[in-house]
Amino acid sequence: MKASSSLDELVAALRCLPGVGPKSAQRMAYHLLQRDRPGASRLAAALAAALGRLRHCEKCNSYSEEAVCAVCASPRRDQALLCVVESPGDLLMMEQAQCYQGLYFVLMGALSPLDGVGPRDIHVDRLIRRAADGLVREVILATNFTVEGEATAHYVGEALRARGLKVTRIARGLPVGGELEYVDSGTLAQAVLERREA
Ligand SMILES: [Zn+2]
Repeated sequence: MKASSSLDELVAALRCLPGVGPKSAQRMAYHLLQRDRPGASRLAAALAAALGRLRHCEKCNSYSEEAVCAVCASPRRDQALLCVVESPGDLLMMEQAQCYQGLYFVLMGALSPLDGVGPRDIHVDRLIRRAADGLVREVILATNFTVEGEATAHYVGEALRARGLKVTRIARGLPVGGELEYVDSGTLAQAVLERREA
C-alpha cells in the first residue's frame, strides 16, 4: 500500500507541469522509476537546488542566485537602455542574439485579464521605479507580438511615458502572434535595431 501511495503522489505531482494530463504523468513516472533512476535522482536534486537557491534579481526581476544578477551587476552594460521582456527565456534569446548591450526588466508574464493576470502580477510598479533611476534614457518594449504581449506593451508604454520616459517598441520584423523564444537570432537582432518610438 505504501509504495503505491508514493507512486500516486509522484503521478499527481508531475501533473503540475504545463500540458501534462493523467496519462502522460503516469508514463513519466514509470519511465523515471523503471528506465532512468539516475535521471530521476538528478531531476529531484536539481529541482530542490533551484527552489532553494534561486530568487528574483532585485533590479531586473529575472532569476538569480545573488541579490543582483550577473547581467545587472556587469559594468560593461549600457545603463541608459532598459529592455522589457516577458520571461527569463526571452532575456536569454536577446542575449544569444548578441544585439543588445543594455539592461533588462523581466515581467514574468503578460497582461491577461481573462486569466486574472493584472498589472500587479507583472510588477509594473517595480518596473516604473526601476526605469526612473535617473540613468535610464530609453525603455525598449520587447514583449511578444501576441494579443497579451501587445496589450502589455501598450499598458506599460503608457505608464512609462506618463513619467516622461522615452519608450520604443521592437520592430515588427517578427510574425504576428510571434513569440521571441521561437524567433531566430538574426530576426530578433533586426527587430531590436529597427525599434521605433512607441
Ligand atoms: Zn538582474
